[in-house]
Amino acid sequence: MANSDYATVTEAILSQLQDICGSENVASEDPNVLRKYSHDQVPDDKQARPPEVVVKPKSAEEVAAIVQLANRENIPVTPRAAGSGLSGGAVPIFGGILLSVERMDRILEIDTANLIAVVEPGVITNRLDAELAEHGLFFAGYPMSEEFCFIGGNVAENAGGGRAIKYGVTGRYIHGLEVVTPTGDIVHLGGKRVKDVTGYDLVHLMVGSEGTLGIFTKIFVKLLPRPTHRTATLALFADVESAISAVPAVMTSGKLIPTAIEYMDRFSFSSAAKDLKKDYPYESLGAALLFEVDGNNADVVNTEAEIISRICKKKGAIARYVAEQEKEIEEFWKIRKQIPWIIKRHSPQQTIEDIVVPIAEIPAIVAVIHEIAEKYDTMIPVFGHAGDGNLHATPMKNPEHSLAHWETMLPELKRELYLATAHMGGTISGEHGIGHKRKDYMRLVMSEAELDLLRKIKSALDPGNILNPGKIIPDSA
Ligand SMILES: Cc1cc2nc3c(=O)[nH]c(=O)nc-3n(C[C@H](O)[C@H](O)[C@H](O)COP(=O)(O)OP(=O)(O)OC[C@H]3O[C@@H](n4cnc5c(N)ncnc54)[C@H](O)[C@@H]3O)c2cc1C
Repeated sequence: MANSDYATVTEAILSQLQDICGSENVASEDPNVLRKYSHDQVPDDKQARPPEVVVKPKSAEEVAAIVQLANRENIPVTPRAAGSGLSGGAVPIFGGILLSVERMDRILEIDTANLIAVVEPGVITNRLDAELAEHGLFFAGYPMSEEFCFIGGNVAENAGGGRAIKYGVTGRYIHGLEVVTPTGDIVHLGGKRVKDVTGYDLVHLMVGSEGTLGIFTKIFVKLLPRPTHRTATLALFADVESAISAVPAVMTSGKLIPTAIEYMDRFSFSSAAKDLKKDYPYESLGAALLFEVDGNNADVVNTEAEIISRICKKKGAIARYVAEQEKEIEEFWKIRKQIPWIIKRHSPQQTIEDIVVPIAEIPAIVAVIHEIAEKYDTMIPVFGHAGDGNLHATPMKNPEHSLAHWETMLPELKRELYLATAHMGGTISGEHGIGHKRKDYMRLVMSEAELDLLRKIKSALDPGNILNPGKIIPDSA
């Protein structure tokens, strides 16, 4: 697909969009607005592209009318939630219509009898969680961006995050969707039912489809009773190997599944903690692990935290801190959440990668990342969700190298990293998705026959290739 395969947005089309959404919800002239919607959180400007028009519908009917218009006129439509994505999924790479769901931000129902919340896609994830807390309930999804990402974006990316090791990823909690199809029909998939095998599982075809197979306008989220207690253990190690060896040990010898096991290497932890003015034994620090446990019995939760602390000591931890108050838990998480921002501040030329390997392979992949960093003479800080094998290795440009050198070597470096990951039974994205950032690397982990299946699904649902084109699937060989 190329730009020239699509029509441009004319005055007549703008006028029809205004009729659908109201003129105050259609923006096509202000360059600042168009720039704002030209990128997500991928820092590389070369991956950005402004839309021709931004529209902000309020209802499924308005979304459907926009998509029908786009099909009639051959204009691409890119759905966008909060724009916190890390794979360029919400970037309108062929221009056209950027459809923002930010005005569709209502929590429609919290059904405590069925343990289901019905929400619109523009609800901020944390806002949903805060509202559920008042009912003693919770949504187990917990991306580290929860303060600003939207639930619609979480479903479209099948977001993981800090609780996935115990609770699984977003998709496990999505029981139903109202969807505007790529041709502009409104369909209802699943609902409040716990079980449903009536036909194909279209709900979970939509989950993780990155805005390429449908636009969600209503989401049925499965809720859990909110655990009454939680605590966290921060363990510092002198070297990476000891830290990594504690990850499986907690689950095998400790016989418990923590809510979270987050890994932070020396650079990631020290830079973030120092930035937050925290005092730790930085001199002897090689890597850190943050564990969280939760449950309904304070004694059990505290005992589990102690077991984790003891196992870390056995594995060589040089310092351990078990949180005694909620505030301390939050302080530990603040360090972890600060890492992507601090890396970005150190170097705008960087790429947050999202590889995932079977957990037993974590020591091997961390060793390979160190070898690759040495070979390319660049830094690759590593942090992430060690408990589910999902590591954010983040190559950064060496300040002594030229920009041209960085741009030439990065694809080679990523290829090497991805091949090593695939060799260990892993893959190139655990939670951030493919978007257009990783599309060209899909052949390293999927065969042509597998990619053809994706192509057939896409063209069956979206024969005009109108919805978020140019994402996920590389062009045919
Ligand atoms: C600091 C930071 C930390 C992060 N931590 C995590 C983490 O722990 N775990 C994790 O999984 N991710 C994480 N992310 C990545 C990102 O926050 C997630 O991918 C998130 O789910 C994206 O949500 P969003 O609302 O920003 O979606 P956007 O970026 O706006 O869109 C993401 C994709 O969803 C599609 N989309 C948006 N709305 C709809 C809709 N209504 N219907 C259909 N498709 C739609 C878009 O087209 C796009 O392809 C992090 C990002 C940052 C910046």
